[in-house]
Amino acid sequence: MTREAVVGIDVGGTRIKTALVSPDGAVLAEAVHLTPPAVGDRLGAVAAEAVDRLVRQAGDPVELLAVGLVVPGLVDDEKGIGVWSANLGWTDLDLHGSVAASVDVPVAVGHDVRAGLLAEHRLGAAREADNVLFVPLGTGLASAMLSRGRLVTGSQWTGEIGHVVVVPDGPPCGCGERGCLEAVASAGAIGRRWSAATGLTGDAEEVARRTEAGEPEACRVWQEAVDALAAVVAPVVAATGTELVLVGGGLARAGDTLFEPLRAALRARLGRRAEVAVEAAALGDRAGCLGAATIALDLVGR
Ligand SMILES: [Zn+2]
Repeated sequence: MTREAVVGIDVGGTRIKTALVSPDGAVLAEAVHLTPPAVGDRLGAVAAEAVDRLVRQAGDPVELLAVGLVVPGLVDDEKGIGVWSANLGWTDLDLHGSVAASVDVPVAVGHDVRAGLLAEHRLGAAREADNVLFVPLGTGLASAMLSRGRLVTGSQWTGEIGHVVVVPDGPPCGCGERGCLEAVASAGAIGRRWSAATGLTGDAEEVARRTEAGEPEACRVWQEAVDALAAVVAPVVAATGTELVLVGGGLARAGDTLFEPLRAALRARLGRRAEVAVEAAALGDRAGCLGAATIALDLVGR
């Protein structure tokens, strides 16, 4: 029996995650590769190889309906342009054209976090909610929002809450400014700040463990991250009527070590009347490639 499916491709700074997904959301095959150097020049080949490999891996015959590609940074979803990515080193890259030249099915292009939220809404932890702020806390920090079940997109800057300055003259950020939320509250920043304060080496998971153990320096760095996050998220929640803050990325694995103080910090800023839930995302680091599959399915009306 031939099965219909789409391929979702999530190109990150370190890894490319790919999945073959049927219209009912079943993952028929998946694969993860290291991101090659100058990947921006090779997206057509990356997509063609992913399609070949996944279709072979699936075993049963597959009718490929579409390909979805998601990337980080500033993305023009409608035009299919990668406007800017610090990690991947491109400016105004024709993502849609590169992939469409190498596969003979329709191609959808999107932003990794926005597409990830669509996947969480369809398959994951946001199925029951229509007013959602999705904040993956990983190496970087960006956000995406659903309002009444629709993705909010304005300018290319949409979702870049990681570059709101929370500590004037604070730690340097990858964007060139200082004291951005990303430089204080991303998983990467928490590890770096704790290492700088203690002279020890360790990542955010280490800092979470030491926070649970009550070590003062770990607790201070952790609480500063939580407070900075709440200071940026609370006005967004108040302005938009967000009911669910969905936290993803590596830092969500800290569980209640993160969620309890974050709930408290949001309550302190929003008062008792605002009923906002703070929960972990469900799809983990697959959200991007499942999101890429979701926008591909949407493109062909499935
Ligand atoms: Zn920044």
